[in-house]
Amino acid sequence: MPVETKLKVHNFSAGPCVLPQQVFQQAAQAVLDWDGSGLSILEVSHRGKPFVEVMEKTRALVKELLGAPDHYQVVFLGGGASMGFHLVPQNFMKVGGKGAYCHTGEWAKRAIKEAKLAGGAITVASSEDKNFSYIPKGFAVPSEADYFHFTSNNTIFGTQYKQFPKSPVPLIADMSSDIFSRPVNVADFAMIYAGAQKNMGPAGATMYLFDPAALGKTGRELSPMMDLANHAAKESMYNTPPVFPVYVIMLTLQWLKGIGGIPEIQKRNAAKAGLLYSTVDKLPIFQGTAAKEDRSEMNATFVLKDAALEPAFDAMWKEAGISGIRGHRSVGGYRASMYNALPLESVRALTEVMEEFAKKNG
Ligand SMILES: *Cc1c(COP(=O)(O)O)cnc(C)c1O
Repeated sequence: MPVETKLKVHNFSAGPCVLPQQVFQQAAQAVLDWDGSGLSILEVSHRGKPFVEVMEKTRALVKELLGAPDHYQVVFLGGGASMGFHLVPQNFMKVGGKGAYCHTGEWAKRAIKEAKLAGGAITVASSEDKNFSYIPKGFAVPSEADYFHFTSNNTIFGTQYKQFPKSPVPLIADMSSDIFSRPVNVADFAMIYAGAQKNMGPAGATMYLFDPAALGKTGRELSPMMDLANHAAKESMYNTPPVFPVYVIMLTLQWLKGIGGIPEIQKRNAAKAGLLYSTVDKLPIFQGTAAKEDRSEMNATFVLKDAALEPAFDAMWKEAGISGIRGHRSVGGYRASMYNALPLESVRALTEVMEEFAKKNG
């Protein structure tokens, strides 16, 4: 039975980030001696039965936890979610066609760039006018687009769609930074993809969950490595998959299932975000940077109204064993990332420091 270890550091890193402590222990053990086999997980064939079972279990857990329709497929590929930006137009944009996008920040921008290179992008809405501090609403997706793509959670800017957009064309989402944090009606999506290193596991694998019926309509000839249908037909084993990341994803998803799955984690995430944002709002020396109704439950962005206080605040949270809350360089200030595995205890530690700092400097 895994032992709960005491946290040494409160890790608010935006990604790669905290994973369940028991997963770290199980993964460490498997590196030394995997399930008593005398072999390390790092030295076994991906074609051997033990790892084939890991891959099958992991793919099944994804579908089970998200309640995906039976016929949906799951593959794990390298290349990061950034390769996903490329795979989307390659697999869903007709030759001579266009993809529609909502522009909500850096990751959306990179996705749009790939669509432009592949043939064309229609930007249906953008929040660039206010440094991506809100989620555009009330836009219409043109029915001539081949698909509509959005970023469900904007990791850098701390905004998150509370309601997913409706689309007359196949819906595709980059859910890298909020996958498995809340319920999703998978059947509404032609594809959901997500890099592992925020809510699933270590960097090195990206999950693609898609409706195979939505593929094969583009008239494009694809390299087998870029062809999602090929990877699905080979059960995510066309080439050597990211063996260790997939194994750790399996452990993380088993942990998630064990604590009660998405309904339970959604409650925990709401409690953590509620505590953090109520502290930001209560203390006048701090200010949230995202529009209140669009605030992310995963990445909370805020600033000290008086930036001259930053060095003193930084010294105080570092002293309290807190790590990784400096904001992204394009936003400044602070960003507390509160992914699934971050315990409420860590958010308490941070909000206590904020309260104490405000008392001294307010
Ligand atoms: C981190 C992140 C990415 C980029 O992932 P890579 O694995 O670095 O390619 C893309 N989209 C979102 C929403 C992210 O948070």
